[in-house]
Amino acid sequence: MSTDQTNLSRRKFLATAAKITAGVLLAPRFLTAQVKDGPVQQINRAAATSKINVTKLRGNIYMVEGSGGNIAVLNGPEGKLLIDAGINVSKAHVKTALNSISDKPMKLLINSHWHFDHTSGNEWMHDAGATIVSQDITRDHLTKKIFQPEWNYTFDPLPPGGIPTVTYKKEHNVHFNGEDVHVKIYQPAHTDGDSSIYFPNADILHVADTFWNAYYPFIDYATGGSIDGMIAAAAQNVAQTNKHTIVIPGHGAVGNHAQLIQFHDMLSTVRERVSKLKKQGRTLNETIAAKPTASFDPVFGKYVITGDFFTKLVFTGV
Ligand SMILES: [Zn+2]
Repeated sequence: MSTDQTNLSRRKFLATAAKITAGVLLAPRFLTAQVKDGPVQQINRAAATSKINVTKLRGNIYMVEGSGGNIAVLNGPEGKLLIDAGINVSKAHVKTALNSISDKPMKLLINSHWHFDHTSGNEWMHDAGATIVSQDITRDHLTKKIFQPEWNYTFDPLPPGGIPTVTYKKEHNVHFNGEDVHVKIYQPAHTDGDSSIYFPNADILHVADTFWNAYYPFIDYATGGSIDGMIAAAAQNVAQTNKHTIVIPGHGAVGNHAQLIQFHDMLSTVRERVSKLKKQGRTLNETIAAKPTASFDPVFGKYVITGDFFTKLVFTGV
């Protein structure tokens, strides 16, 4: 996507997007046209001024927050390895944040999945020296136009420089700066191309968008996501971690094992409640009116995806 399309502060992006998507979802007549100033354009505009925070996690690994999805950085004498590229319009702020970690160049960039808030910075990071790595299917998505009904937006392919040049089908191992980096696909969950990235020496797990810390997650049915896949990925994240593990969520603050359990339990409980209502013959609007997320809204519903919007996403998949 072009530079002027690509930036919003995450908070504004998510908040605006949630409001607008909820509206769009309940008003299908708006689905047919791409609006000139929809959530994506607004997110991009806001991201240009968004504050970027850098947190040192453990060893040489950092989390950079504030340009779309969370970015992980493995720093060291060989340069920087990054997980995800954020939103292109915050390039200047992300650059400053990365330089505050060290003056080492970017060498490798791994995309956790195709969404623009994780990949729209690909091109500039490639220009700065990073080789881009992703799952085959994620590369494929990045080379095509994709219409996203929930955002009412057609995403253009990334420019050639932003397309991954190294791909894998199931797993990929990198040995860099004295760390082992294990990249592994999920079965379709948030999209059909999500990967986790694990740093075993530091015991840090980046879980792509299969976990939003203290927020309801988005589920991208347009590219193969599903609520059942999200629950399976959440269970896998719980099984792969322990009390020592530091968890980097796709969105939200640095997380831990207990929060992964809480997130998994929220997903399964909401799924069960929505499924029961749907089986009783309730329509989407009746199901939303029954407020199946009410007990979780104080924790998970304060951000991008509201309880009502999440109910709609779950309803679609049960
Ligand atoms: Zn995503």
